[in-house]
Amino acid sequence: MNISSVFQNNEKWIAEKLAGDEDYFTKLSQGQQPEFLYIGCSDSRVTAEDLMGVKPGEVFVHRNIANLVNNVDLNVMSVLNYAVRHLKVNHVVVCGHYNCGGVKAAMEPVDLGILNPWLRNIRDVYRYHKDELNAIEDVKARYDRLVELNVEEQCVNLIKTAAIQEAFRERGVRVHGWVFDVRTGKLIDLKINFEEKMRSIMEIYNLYEPVSMVK
Ligand SMILES: [Zn+2]
Repeated sequence: MNISSVFQNNEKWIAEKLAGDEDYFTKLSQGQQPEFLYIGCSDSRVTAEDLMGVKPGEVFVHRNIANLVNNVDLNVMSVLNYAVRHLKVNHVVVCGHYNCGGVKAAMEPVDLGILNPWLRNIRDVYRYHKDELNAIEDVKARYDRLVELNVEEQCVNLIKTAAIQEAFRERGVRVHGWVFDVRTGKLIDLKINFEEKMRSIMEIYNLYEPVSMVK
């Protein structure tokens, strides 16, 4: 794979698309109405469109190291607000993956410079679930579980946002947690109970109703 082959591939792709539909790019240029927002890892092996089998225009995508939904990350928060409030996606997905280098790096005793504050979000996930994770003796199985718990916590982070709370009230937007298994290619739905999660944190994170936080 080299740079010139990228442009050859592009020409081939254009020809294929036009052979199937001569108005393909005319239609594509008219706008987008994606049904999904996908938040996944930047890992080159985990390509959102390929693993979901979707076409251009069908999924709005944000990727970062270890698929984090950080409250003060202007990038992910901008993507979320644009997708939910303007494009009006009905499903928001956090997709992690096994063998995630970001999750692994977060748990190693190494100073990774600028990556430290980013990956510390994953150490926080470990701390919340320390008892469960420490009880798993097999190190590989423990990392797999941390990948899953990280997805779950990022889904909770989504529920804390005004954009998701508002869209849930307006049109019942859903949040989903998935894991891609790079060892088999399988996409696994963690079946996170979105409404139950929402109920369990609303006492503290509700942004729309005057609920007293002190009982
Ligand atoms: Zn990753």
